[in-house]
Amino acid sequence: MTTNLIDQFNRTINYIRISVTDRCDFRCIYCMSEKIKFLPRNDVLTLEEINRLANIFTTLGVTKIRITGGEPLVRKNIDSLFHNLSKNKNIVDLTLTTNGSQLIHKAQMLKEAGVKRINISLDSLNPLTFKKMTRIGNLDQVVNGIDHALNVGFDKIKLNTVLMRDINDSEIFDLTNFAIKRGLDLSFIEEMPLGATNYERKITSISNDEIFKKLDENFDLEDTLYKTGGPAKYWSIKNTNTKIGLISPHSHNFCSDCNRIRISCKGELFLCLGQETKIELMPLLRLFPNNDDPIKDAIINSMKIKPKSHEFDLSKEKPAVIRFMSHTGG
Ligand code: SAM
Ligand code: SF4
Repeated sequence: MTTNLIDQFNRTINYIRISVTDRCDFRCIYCMSEKIKFLPRNDVLTLEEINRLANIFTTLGVTKIRITGGEPLVRKNIDSLFHNLSKNKNIVDLTLTTNGSQLIHKAQMLKEAGVKRINISLDSLNPLTFKKMTRIGNLDQVVNGIDHALNVGFDKIKLNTVLMRDINDSEIFDLTNFAIKRGLDLSFIEEMPLGATNYERKITSISNDEIFKKLDENFDLEDTLYKTGGPAKYWSIKNTNTKIGLISPHSHNFCSDCNRIRISCKGELFLCLGQETKIELMPLLRLFPNNDDPIKDAIINSMKIKPKSHEFDLSKEKPAVIRFMSHTGG
């Protein structure tokens, strides 16, 4: 397939992340404010518009799509979107990021839609800490969802954990053993300065260098060449089926290989997670319901403004970008 999405730094974009909703059944402290106001429904792309966009992107060379949010599985009629995406043969890799709360009901549907890889967020195995971090989440529901997804059988299930100092960092080994016991991969994600929080991120954030040191002292880690084109570096734990990923967004090393862009639930095309640079696709989708060309042109032209790199700096008072991750889509 020809690719039309090559940016000003010669990076080929073949991966999009689509946030299908800003709503969520959790309120993770690092991701949203407690009293967050969600968008009115009319300001959010319809599922038909999301499917149309996915089809347009695949004609431009995108082969990998991750559905995210907010919590994608709480979007009403989400099954119909997966059903429609499953018919697009240009999508080689259809993946999902979820908090796991709805997997008990949705895992089978996802499997049938051809989703092969799922990322599930899990920040704590302690019910009280889990509640503190998600504000309203239920740990048992998530663990049952993970085990159910394992039974349904996906090619890859990866856990994602944001470690926060003095909140859940004492669980680093418990979480790793949980992953080993189930043969899952586990990535630790450094907290990013996205959106304003009621605590100081520089107090809670922990660098992956510190996490690596602790893991290396307690597990037999082997360097791997495994790469996803993203900011993660992977180590396998000897004599297990588990790989540990360390996602270090504060390092700029990965920006030169960046292959992704993000579409928010409002149809904003964000060209970098850590920058405000964007174009608006919703007005074009609504102005040209039967003609994809203006939308294709806008997407191709956006390649000229994809930033070279993000500018995360936790020591700054203000967040790097005002919007929370739940808005952009993680
Ligand atoms: N609700 C789903 C979930 O929690 O997996 C999908 C959306 S969530 C925004 C995607 C990922 O972003 C989660 O793994 C979450 O932990 C992570 N995330 C959210 N805010 C973050 C932040 N400020 N820094 C680092 N990771 C963050
Ligand atoms: Fe919801 Fe995911 Fe954000 Fe937590 S990280 S509040 S589960 S969108």
